[in-house]
Amino acid sequence: MQPIRVTVWNEFRHEKSHAEVQAVYPQGIHEAIATPLRESGFAVRTATLDEPSHGLTKEVLEDTDVLIWWGHMAHNEVSDDVVKAVVERVWSGMGLIVLHSGHFSKVFKSLMGTSCDLKWREAGEHERLWVVNPAHPIVQGLPEYFELPHEEMYGEHFDIPAPDELVLISWFAGGEVFRSGCTYHRGSGKVFYFRPGHETFPTYFDQNVQRVIKNAVSWASPSGGAQPKRGHSEPIESLPGWEK
Ligand code: ZN
Repeated sequence: MQPIRVTVWNEFRHEKSHAEVQAVYPQGIHEAIATPLRESGFAVRTATLDEPSHGLTKEVLEDTDVLIWWGHMAHNEVSDDVVKAVVERVWSGMGLIVLHSGHFSKVFKSLMGTSCDLKWREAGEHERLWVVNPAHPIVQGLPEYFELPHEEMYGEHFDIPAPDELVLISWFAGGEVFRSGCTYHRGSGKVFYFRPGHETFPTYFDQNVQRVIKNAVSWASPSGGAQPKRGHSEPIESLPGWEK
């Protein structure tokens, strides 16, 4: 069986401009996400904002089963043509995993159709993520809950459509809660939003976070189901009065 083809897309700006972020992710957030996926046997490439076509040419997208998206400070610099191409690939079956501040990416907002706005606070507070759908493949192998000692807070209300499945809920030391793991189907594609991953904390080195991302890649990869045909259609049975 061919390995699942994963493209990890990262804006890759904080790591260049903020020493604090560079200290946590010297190779970039994309490499921190890509390395454990490579070690798990996935076929992983990375792509970043400042490459031509943001590294997401038609050929790359066609060769991608699951796209992972991390962006924050430059959502508006992502070209509308690339956004359209990504959205159309999701409709035709590519999986998409949107991480943390990717909630405000053009790609996620256009797939959700809502503002995707939320409450936030950078206090480096304790986050506890509860598994609320223990049979779901994305949380396979996880404990009942896991914790991140320091994270940015995201709080409700998170302006998203009701998820198809709610998999994880976060609680923060300051008192807020948040829908941290949400699945959607858009066209033939599967979408997973996963909250943790503020750039100044080593969240993507956490083993539970890595497990969620790995499981989500497997879940979101195309299942090889029927390719629907749309548009004008000849009858399958003989239809009285029907003429070509
Ligand atoms: Zn953040």
